[in-house]
Amino acid sequence: MTELTLCAFCGKPLKGRSDKRYCNDDCRNAFFNERKKDEQKEVRAIDLALKKNRRILQAMLGLFKTKIVEEKSLLQKGFLFKYTTHQYISSGKGTYHFVYDYGYKEIADGKFMIVKEIGRSEA
Ligand SMILES: [Zn+2]
Repeated sequence: MTELTLCAFCGKPLKGRSDKRYCNDDCRNAFFNERKKDEQKEVRAIDLALKKNRRILQAMLGLFKTKIVEEKSLLQKGFLFKYTTHQYISSGKGTYHFVYDYGYKEIADGKFMIVKEIGRSEA
């Protein structure tokens, strides 16, 4: 008795080796392309939000090293606080939330300090 295995892409029953997952290379490639497309769609929305956040911080900081801004100014520009790339916890100085190379830290109720990470882009 053989167990019926179906192609992971087209769903047709597979013949031959029991460890086969696809009918052929076409189905295999199509399966991976499909998965990649889904992944790109999901990741793209977050990528766009991160890039927008970065542009907002960059524009607000301008050429200053640090700048204090109001939370409402960030929100008005469309800044989404939930999208950050990493954080830096500075002992005694609080937590900086980074969006790529630009970061911010809450310094008082409704006020944030914007900073730029140094040393990475400048050689
Ligand atoms: Zn197939």
